[in-house]
Amino acid sequence: MIKDKVVIITGASSGIGEATARRLAREGVKVVLGARRTDKLKQLAAEITKEGGHAVYQALDVTNQSENDAIVKLALDTFGNLDVIFLNAGIMPNSPLSALKTDEWHQMVDVNIKGVLNGVAAVLPVFTQQKSGHVIATSSVAGLKAYPNGAVYGGTKWFVRDFMEVLRMESAQEGTNIRTAIIYPAAINTELLKTISQHQTRESMQGIYDTYGISPDRIADIIAFAIGQPGDTTINEFTVGPSNQPW
Ligand code: NDP
Repeated sequence: MIKDKVVIITGASSGIGEATARRLAREGVKVVLGARRTDKLKQLAAEITKEGGHAVYQALDVTNQSENDAIVKLALDTFGNLDVIFLNAGIMPNSPLSALKTDEWHQMVDVNIKGVLNGVAAVLPVFTQQKSGHVIATSSVAGLKAYPNGAVYGGTKWFVRDFMEVLRMESAQEGTNIRTAIIYPAAINTELLKTISQHQTRESMQGIYDTYGISPDRIADIIAFAIGQPGDTTINEFTVGPSNQPW
């Protein structure tokens, strides 16, 4: 039963985050939307509200701890409680290491790793105190296997796997009832490839997505399923991708 749950979604302005917001809101979830492009969030929140749902939004750069804290406060102030945070914001400026795009390496660490740390730091006091909560994070199939041009991106997504598993174990040990779920998407048609500045890498990945990519609605369905499990049940890992994608 997910109706009336309060869910923060980071990276809600496009792709998987946007699809998840629409999906959850249709089921009566109160969604709290965060991303940097507030024009997109404003429009999304308006559309959800028009269809009878509940949505609020706030500018969020996940690399900034105080903005993560502020969106948790927004959820609590608006809806009175918080059930789930979906740590989904991410970038994938892939390139060969020899291209030495070191600024992009650091950006991936900042958004994909530190963004997750900041989000967890923001919700953990709330979830620990209420002895319930659900942390869901978007890793990637790149967090399960290595591939050329994805050394740093894959590393950030491997981090998510390790971190979330330890969060799950410690929460169980400490009796805080915090559930976790990690999503490993393969090729999902979103705006993600726009973050790739290296022409050849972008072209070759675009070819893969054009051939195999599926809708972000598929991931949204999985998020709804994970949230809907009874409180004593954690469904921890989902690998989701096109049936015909061979790698
Ligand atoms: P999109 O590019 O469509 O969405 C990425 C989202 O992240 C946007 O809403 C963007 O919003 C947000 N974002 C980026 N940087 C920041 C930041 N500093 N602070 C806050 N929000 C930020 O791509 P996807 O929907 O595909 O990506 C969602 C997640 O899925 C990512 O973690 C990605 O790594 C992962 N993933 C995607 C796959 C795919 O095939 N699409 C495969 C495997 C994993 P804004 O720019 O407005 O801030």
